[in-house]
Amino acid sequence: NGFIKKYDEEIADAMDKELARQRRNLELIASENIVSPAVMAAMGSVLTNKYAEGYPSKRYYGGCYAVDIAENIARDRACKLFGAEHANVQPHSGSQANQTVYFAMLEPGDTVMGMSLSEGGHLTHGSPVNLSGKYFNFVSYGVDPVTHRIDYDKVLEIAKECKPKMIVCGASAYPRAIDFKKFREICDEVGALLMVDMAHIAGLVAGDQHENPVPYSDFVTTTTHKTLRGPRGGMILCKEEYAKAIDKALFPGMQGGPLMHIIAAKAVCFKEAMQPEFKEYAEQIVKNCKALADGLVKRGHKLVSGGTDNHVMLMDLREDGVTGKELEHNLDEVHITVNKNTIPGEPLSPFVTSGIRIGTAAVTTRGLKEEDMDVIAECISLVIKDFEGNKAKVDEMVAALCEKYPLYE
Ligand code: PLP
Repeated sequence: NGFIKKYDEEIADAMDKELARQRRNLELIASENIVSPAVMAAMGSVLTNKYAEGYPSKRYYGGCYAVDIAENIARDRACKLFGAEHANVQPHSGSQANQTVYFAMLEPGDTVMGMSLSEGGHLTHGSPVNLSGKYFNFVSYGVDPVTHRIDYDKVLEIAKECKPKMIVCGASAYPRAIDFKKFREICDEVGALLMVDMAHIAGLVAGDQHENPVPYSDFVTTTTHKTLRGPRGGMILCKEEYAKAIDKALFPGMQGGPLMHIIAAKAVCFKEAMQPEFKEYAEQIVKNCKALADGLVKRGHKLVSGGTDNHVMLMDLREDGVTGKELEHNLDEVHITVNKNTIPGEPLSPFVTSGIRIGTAAVTTRGLKEEDMDVIAECISLVIKDFEGNKAKVDEMVAALCEKYPLYE
């Protein structure tokens, strides 16, 4: 930062503030993480200077021999890590990865099934405000109103009725394991393609803590910055038979020049994800999530589906007398960062909500363990029960945890 300060004090100041915030806050946003210095260094490297439209050995620019090495390594590692036949590591984001698959395989107006946004799906799974929902005829499925788990019989029933060309599964706020085999069977029964968006759970898949969707899917999309702990970005994995169509849909179809510094950082992230320590990290995410969920339930709070199998849980706040919006704000004041989230059958608007989403990936990277999760559960519970009365005490508890686990030192 000292270097930036010399040239641009205002931006250096914003960066200093963000570092201080990350050090002083407990990050419980389920889609965030803390990258390694090696991933960070690759992102801030000279590779950002290079234009490289096209793919390794087939570029539209000269001087690409070095970035070709980086992209080939990233692709090879991605295939090895997830057991895929083909990888495209160029998507700038998870959203662009998803739109690329749609662009490659669908015609405007085609019928597709996706999980509804209000029950855990992502905007790009057919929300009416997203390009996916505007250009394609998305039919939504959700969770069972009692168990809050995907009702696979219902998914099949809807699929038989609407005969989709593709079924999208994967979620942004679903605390339970997803049965990819069942989705494959449903797709086979109705003759649909299967696209799995594993953005949230990619790190758990890499670390063997969630079933790998690759063997069951025609396409797997992901972000690289959530549980996978790489740079912000996306990726598409697919069978060899779709490789050409996907690559063409991404470039020149969807994007221009790839971000070679980000692709190098993805390669570093994939190497990290192949190490034994990564498996330990993925295991700890799940252990921490269970410990935090147990801590909240023990203190009388309710969770959607009653618990969690992965890195995320959803609190159902209807009996706590607080909305998601209020609790997000109150937790912010004591340096705990979460986001408000709709719950199944949400009675309030998406700007208010009856839930919050809590994830354990970032705090696990920071080093926190099960006993710390119980402290966090106590903090959240105290804030819910009497915010004004407990605010100072909770803030001290959070500060103590942040000091115990220093960040980027
Ligand atoms: N897919 C899922 C399941 C997500 O949760 C997200 C991000 O929240 C995305 C896709 C989109 O990723 P990005 O924000 O990189 O566009």
